[in-house]
Amino acid sequence: MSKLFKKGPAVSATSRKGLFVSINDDESVALASLVEIGEMLSADVHEFWEINPFVTFPCLGTDCPGCRIDNPTRFKAYLPVVNREGETKIFSFGIRVANQLTDIESAIGNIKGKILRIKRTGKGLKTQYSVVPTGGNIDVGDYEIPDIEGSFGDISLEGVTKLMIDRGLLPDPEDEVVKILPAKADPATKAEEEEVTVAKPRRSKKADGWEGI
Ligand SMILES: [Zn+2]
Repeated sequence: MSKLFKKGPAVSATSRKGLFVSINDDESVALASLVEIGEMLSADVHEFWEINPFVTFPCLGTDCPGCRIDNPTRFKAYLPVVNREGETKIFSFGIRVANQLTDIESAIGNIKGKILRIKRTGKGLKTQYSVVPTGGNIDVGDYEIPDIEGSFGDISLEGVTKLMIDRGLLPDPEDEVVKILPAKADPATKAEEEEVTVAKPRRSKKADGWEGI
């Protein structure tokens, strides 16, 4: 693991379709967390929603190519979860949900294995999630945790610089004509991009804890 990701509660949110939890407006899903809050990953990320497929990477700090073009960073947290079908995915969210989860863990204890109901309301900039514990819980010990950091691809300085040049976000030093796209992210299109679902469960699904939820 690189030091770009921090473990634990919030301190300051993809071509990876299929890997991320997707919830439609006014719908809710029940998901069980595969980890406790202390194991949740978070990072300050750059996001370029105007690029399709969209580009995102954690801020690299010194010499970060995202900061170089004044793209603002945004706090994102990534919680590995499993759904009722036994598919493991990543639920990504901002500071507000991260704080809700911390509050829930304070109230009911370790959220690992706890089944949470997550409801989405609104679109684009108005998208909000509410998270409530259902009281149900399952044994999540045997599920493989999705590779969250790996889903970003090559996040070395060289890798990110190359990606940005390839996507037209940075001028190609070998080009005579310099063209730079606006750095401003457009969160309004974000909802459409957040798709997902994925890896196969390592064993048959365990229905017990989901009953009645
Ligand atoms: Zn940066």
